[in-house]
Amino acid sequence: MRSRHGIWKPVRPFAVAVSFAPLVMAVACSSGGPTPTTAARHVLLITIDTLRADHVGAYGARTGATPHLDALAARGTVFEEALASVPLTLPSHASILSGREPPHHGVHLNGRSIFPADAPTLATVLKGRGYATAAFVAAYVLDRRFGLARGFDLYDDRIERRGAGASVLESERSCDVVAAAAEQWIALQAGSFFAWVHFYEPHAPYDPPSPYREQQGGRPYDGEIATADACLGRVVAAAEARAPGRLVVAATGDHGEALGDHGELTHGFFVYQSTLRVPLVLAGAGVPASRRAAPARAVDVMPTLLARVAAPAPAGLDGGDLLGPTRGAEAYAETQYPETMGWAGLRALRVGALKYIDAPRPELYDLGADPGETRNLVGTRAADAERLKRGLDALRATERAAVATADDPEIAEKLRALGYLSAPVVTTSGPRRDPKDSLESWRLFEDAIWADARGEHAAAAKALHSLVEREPANPAFRQALAAALRSAGRPAEAAEALRTLETIAPSDPVAWHERAIALDAAGQLDEAMRSERRAIALDPSLPEPHNHLGSLLARGGEPAAALAEFSRATVLDPNNAGAWTNRANALRAMGQAREAAEAYRTASGLAPRDPGPRNGLGVLSIESGDLDRAVALFEEALAIDPRYHEARLNLAVAEVRRGHPGAARAALEAVLRAQPDRETSAKASAFLRDLGGP
Ligand SMILES: [Zn+2]
Repeated sequence: MRSRHGIWKPVRPFAVAVSFAPLVMAVACSSGGPTPTTAARHVLLITIDTLRADHVGAYGARTGATPHLDALAARGTVFEEALASVPLTLPSHASILSGREPPHHGVHLNGRSIFPADAPTLATVLKGRGYATAAFVAAYVLDRRFGLARGFDLYDDRIERRGAGASVLESERSCDVVAAAAEQWIALQAGSFFAWVHFYEPHAPYDPPSPYREQQGGRPYDGEIATADACLGRVVAAAEARAPGRLVVAATGDHGEALGDHGELTHGFFVYQSTLRVPLVLAGAGVPASRRAAPARAVDVMPTLLARVAAPAPAGLDGGDLLGPTRGAEAYAETQYPETMGWAGLRALRVGALKYIDAPRPELYDLGADPGETRNLVGTRAADAERLKRGLDALRATERAAVATADDPEIAEKLRALGYLSAPVVTTSGPRRDPKDSLESWRLFEDAIWADARGEHAAAAKALHSLVEREPANPAFRQALAAALRSAGRPAEAAEALRTLETIAPSDPVAWHERAIALDAAGQLDEAMRSERRAIALDPSLPEPHNHLGSLLARGGEPAAALAEFSRATVLDPNNAGAWTNRANALRAMGQAREAAEAYRTASGLAPRDPGPRNGLGVLSIESGDLDRAVALFEEALAIDPRYHEARLNLAVAEVRRGHPGAARAALEAVLRAQPDRETSAKASAFLRDLGGP
């Protein structure tokens, strides 16, 4: 039953196989009264990452963390049982924006595939109706490279990136920054607009700023929620001010957080309610004040918002208008995340109160009697289990293939910094282990990658080493071990950890790139280059191998070849400030000053807190004889990072040339006082000796 467009009609396949009525939905949908007819003209969608429903006031939480969301809930419709399709950020947002379940848009994992170019989204539909459209996202996992930017006039994903060893904060940005950008854009709108605003705060690690830290003392997760809620309040107020009475707002989470339920700490590994149940609040023009108990799914958000602005929904959606006529009550969920470890992925189908989880050891729960999913009924209600399994099989029969892989090593690194793993889906034959039976390994692995992200590299490496001993053929364990060892300053061991790549992951470009970085750090440049060329041969569309190969070539004295690689990297990933800086350095080395300056400026715009591009522009200014400008640029670079010694050495050069040897001496002495590495120290001392003086 695979149609050309992979359309899964939400009700029909089950109407044949499933014989019971959707009780919950039929009763609950009548509670909201008639739908007002006032059509909205403007749409605001706010997604708060990792927001578990029962930590929101409107859903019973007593933490006081969500006054703004609660205010929205008080005047709008609260969907008490809202469910994510996937407990992972990118695939969940793909479903929210497209109205399709993951089998029908093909995005199952963060960083592993891209949203298909032929599937309409809320943005493409509203753009087609003349709306001004903009998105403001807070985390690298939603970068434009993953395909969700289509249909947006502006896709603001300016999230500063760093190279290997990125810290968590460098791969996301605070909701203050996101909200400010959104407010600014909204204020400029004269006609109909659609804004999607994404906040990342509640995602681990939980480290709320003041005053929310104190306000939610001892509950850092709630402190993060309170931070995001305040940002939500700002953006809602800005949009209301711009479009009084004609705005519809949807606020939801992309998934919940397990917080220890079922042995899971965060999200992505299981498909229990803790990570699927999210708040969903709809408010504004055409939305009654009501509460609805029936399941509302992520895929219903798009058609529901379209209906509020009287825009027809595209054909073939899995979701429907939540304020429209009664629909079927089934809800799909999945996670393929365990497959990245070589374990079994999970798929779940919920019909009414019954929820079936397809796993090597399947599970069936009656959520009405057992909302905590503690009593597996698969043995006692075999017929129900079989019926729901058939429903899942019907859905799988309409699955579309992932459009393209985005096996990007840089993506892998950023994802790792965020505590995710982006490893190849292991294609082992034979039965796969049930995630329930891998929980101990998973907990150890999760602890280790979080320790690594916190900078505890040696401890992480130790834990990962024992995991590798436990499962020697698990490439994800080995890659994480190599990354931790490299960060711990043990690059030779990192390279050694990936020595068996030829056997365990011969065709995984991400692994070959990771090996190249380790070999480079270990000083084995030729072998590093061979490994990187292998990565590029496996997938030439990945930017980071080009960027790294460029730097190997530059150090090997081949600036022209290096420039070619850096240029490829910037074309493939135009948001990558590091690649732009490298490209600029190569252009400068080739004597192309004007192009170099332009590339530095691009890098500087992408990473305003990175002193590197300013330092590069300063060197160009010295070369062109504009010494005052050079001094100003080096001082800017040093204001950003006082320990950026290269800029201080260059500052000394500029000061000498413009006849200020005293200022040069002061700069060099400052370098020495900061106790830099031996090479820098030697340079500064030699320079000082040359200057002579008092
Ligand atoms: Zn998320």
